[in-house]
Amino acid sequence: MSDGKNTSMHNLTSDQMPVVFIGHGSPMAAFEDNVFTRTWAALGQTLPRPKAILCVSAHWYVHGARITAMQQPRTIHDFQGFPDVLYQYHYPASGEPLLAQRIVELLKPMEVIADQEWGFDHGSWTLLKHMYPLGDVPLLQLSIDRSKPADWHYELGRRLAVLRTEGVLILGSGNIVHNLRYLQWSEAAKTLPWAREFDQYVRAALERGDHQPLVSYQQAGEAARLSVPTPDHYLPLLYVLGASKARDSVSVLLDEIVMDSISMMSVVYGHAVVPSA
Ligand code: ZN
Repeated sequence: MSDGKNTSMHNLTSDQMPVVFIGHGSPMAAFEDNVFTRTWAALGQTLPRPKAILCVSAHWYVHGARITAMQQPRTIHDFQGFPDVLYQYHYPASGEPLLAQRIVELLKPMEVIADQEWGFDHGSWTLLKHMYPLGDVPLLQLSIDRSKPADWHYELGRRLAVLRTEGVLILGSGNIVHNLRYLQWSEAAKTLPWAREFDQYVRAALERGDHQPLVSYQQAGEAARLSVPTPDHYLPLLYVLGASKARDSVSVLLDEIVMDSISMMSVVYGHAVVPSA
């Protein structure tokens, strides 16, 4: 898709950076060439150029709100049993301590810790290796406070929205359906009914612009319980919803379930992504 033959993309809005949620799937994606990675690459080429990226990754799910505040964050290889090439890769982006400080101030009186320990986990770099392969856009990560309820995360996304006017790309990285207990590596993928049901529940609400059923996702019952067995991979979506505006265009893309129980659905606000026939 990066050759522009399969997808045309037009920036329809304005003085605000788009907001993006991406379903990241397996760390292997970092070195794969498929419909997902090509779409991520195309997004990187066609989105307005960000001054910095603020990534909310499923893989920094801790007690408390923290933001990476170092000048040169390390690349974290937070997975086991994958090929060496993944462990040898280091994403070359810098941090941006002044922006980290700006975000600490912006979110007061909430306490956000300027973190010097974390770095880029695979929720950010496996995607960004395709979106911005040179690593020439500064990257910050914001943790997900695991002690807080869903509506708190949505509200935090709302408070971050102002950063869109400052050239910051807010990027949520998770998976709308993510249940490793049912994950199959084999090619013979089947679609589990509850995974499809919850995926479609989310898609319908996204396309209606109705955030309430997405914040209160547990009202989808058994399908939600199986699709979101722990909230870490779902919550990045709520930051993106919170930072979106009613006037933003909504583009749902890559709505596929892989490995039986991982939804790769992604959504872009404020930047229309139009699949061609
Ligand atoms: Zn993940």
